[in-house]
Amino acid sequence: MIKKHFRFTLLLGLLGALMAGCSSSAPTTPTAADPAQLVEDAMATIQAEYTQTALAIPPTDSPTETPIPSPTAIRTPPALPGIYQSPILHSLDIPRTYIDDTCTYLNAKWDPNKSAPGTVVMVVMIHSITKGKVDKPNQISADDMRRLLNDLQAQGFEAINAEKLAGFLESNEKIPARSVLLTSDDRHYAQYFNNHFRPFYEQYGWTVTNGFISHPDTLQLIWDENAALAAEGWVDYQAHGVIHNTPMSDNSSDEYLRGELQGSITGIQEHYGNTPIAIIWPGGGFGVRPVATARELGYKLGFTTNPRGPVMFNWVPLTDTRDEQRPYFLPEGGVNDPLMTLPRYTDLDAGSHIDEVRTIGKEAAAYAEQNKATELEYYDIVCAPTYGEIPALAP
Ligand SMILES: [Zn+2]
Repeated sequence: MIKKHFRFTLLLGLLGALMAGCSSSAPTTPTAADPAQLVEDAMATIQAEYTQTALAIPPTDSPTETPIPSPTAIRTPPALPGIYQSPILHSLDIPRTYIDDTCTYLNAKWDPNKSAPGTVVMVVMIHSITKGKVDKPNQISADDMRRLLNDLQAQGFEAINAEKLAGFLESNEKIPARSVLLTSDDRHYAQYFNNHFRPFYEQYGWTVTNGFISHPDTLQLIWDENAALAAEGWVDYQAHGVIHNTPMSDNSSDEYLRGELQGSITGIQEHYGNTPIAIIWPGGGFGVRPVATARELGYKLGFTTNPRGPVMFNWVPLTDTRDEQRPYFLPEGGVNDPLMTLPRYTDLDAGSHIDEVRTIGKEAAAYAEQNKATELEYYDIVCAPTYGEIPALAP
């Protein structure tokens, strides 16, 4: 063992001398051998020695502080950059990652078959579209709604449903580079969707996600009309509680949480045939226990009423602290599950943020491109041996 260490050191010394000889003008001992060939031979010997002894050498075996070289130690992984930060977001709203495994994240990020970096999703919360005068704060006029949808379309956005968003956020599945999830809350007759959203479905294939309240007093006609829309496939029914008017929180009983979350699943499965994967938190109320119960029941996404910004792959703006300037925004950080506390823009305000969302997408793409070589080098050294190469573009 000692002899092998000595030989490692010797070979390293030789390598060092050769490399110094290459990079400086200091005179070197003339030799008949080609320096490149010597390096190659030395490397081959180190590799061979290492393969024979690597498993047998415990980390504390070395009598000196000299590190034992390994094949990977020859290439030191570069330090990875931090995630993209946007000056556009409120200073308390910090983008949060949620994929703990760096190699999994990098593989999904740079797979050319998946969403390109900078792909951005705007989630819009819609409560009540009125044909007449707007007289409540959560209402929007039909004209303003149409204007918002037209603006989004003109700026290159395409609507996606909850399933697509989950695939994107969880594993960077391909979606349009600028996507919007339109969430329409509460119960409505078919006419509501036909008036305000069907034209966009027919012209552009847009979907709308309905956070449906599965209350037992729901009129049969509402169930039936929505079932017909569900069968057409462009209204995407997701969970919005059963009792709904009492928001879920950490003070809710287990029974209440199960009633709201499992009750939503049962109601939507029975009437619309799909299993909801998203909970649109009624009244914007959530907490550690509501999220844990939702996860246990199979939910993949949750939406708050906090309009903090858009979302990207492994990038969700959240805050840890209650903001006195924005007292109605519940802090999500403590829940520690960004996918279950996704922000939503309000319908009235969304239009004024379209440019910002486009900028965030562009800046994130540029930042990713700037760090691409470093991240791919890191992946190649640290990840590729166990995770395999990043896939090539499928034909
Ligand atoms: Zn609601």
